[in-house]
Amino acid sequence: MLKIENLHATVDGKQILNGVNLTIPAGEVHAIMGPNGSGKSTLSYVLAGRDGYEVTEGSVTFGDVDLLAMEPEERAVAGVFLAFQAPVELPGVGNANFLRTALNAVRRAKGEGEIDAMQFLKLARARMKVLNMSDDMLKRPVNVGFSGGEKKRNEMLQMALLSPRLALLDETDSGLDIDALKLVSDTVNSLRGPDFSALVITHYQRLLNHIVPDAVHVLSGGRIIKSGGPELAQELEKSGYGAIQAAAA
Ligand code: ADP
Ligand code: MG
Repeated sequence: MLKIENLHATVDGKQILNGVNLTIPAGEVHAIMGPNGSGKSTLSYVLAGRDGYEVTEGSVTFGDVDLLAMEPEERAVAGVFLAFQAPVELPGVGNANFLRTALNAVRRAKGEGEIDAMQFLKLARARMKVLNMSDDMLKRPVNVGFSGGEKKRNEMLQMALLSPRLALLDETDSGLDIDALKLVSDTVNSLRGPDFSALVITHYQRLLNHIVPDAVHVLSGGRIIKSGGPELAQELEKSGYGAIQAAAA
């Protein structure tokens, strides 16, 4: 489903990704771990098509299309979803309208009819109940004044409603208490299926106890230096990145 080959990318002229190779088959959830500054967020931004990130070499295929040739909006409606490490605040944009607009764009692309405000509220409220979010968060501007945990919940609400084919979660677990962590894991697990793939970026092995990944990759210096199963995350938790970095150098 997602095939990244020899991906090199720069930000502001600075080389960050140095030849990432990664394949996530349809239906699989892969985790990326790695030290601060290794390029994890950059990888997710490049995949989502964020402005300012320039691919200098390599390719990314999503399904059978060239992902890098698509505009960010086209990627989103094709089913690529990025949960930001730092969710953006959109003053003046109502959360409900924002979510419904995004959902309808995706529905149109799938050939499904748009849903109206009433239908949307019903859908959203049901999901919000599961995510332990209060109704008034729909009326407020997107993420404005939301606590860290509320922002992450809002990202999970968006993800659950959009039901993406590829979810990129950038440290969605950081700063969350155990209960919120469980909500994030439950949301990802509820989407799991043959048409859903995910790339979960995390610093903590504990998230991977709840979202058991099919594979774990270590990103260091802008490339994947080691891949393995869930046991690799446990090994990292115990011994850190040093030994693996030394072995790869
Ligand atoms: P990670 O998410 O793994 O912690 P990032 O992808 O955020 O790492 O960053 C990788 C490297 O790119 C870091 O050294 C960071 O300082 C650098 N970087 C990120 N954004 C910019 C930018 N706009 N200009 C220059 N360097 C940047
Ligand atoms: Mg990051």
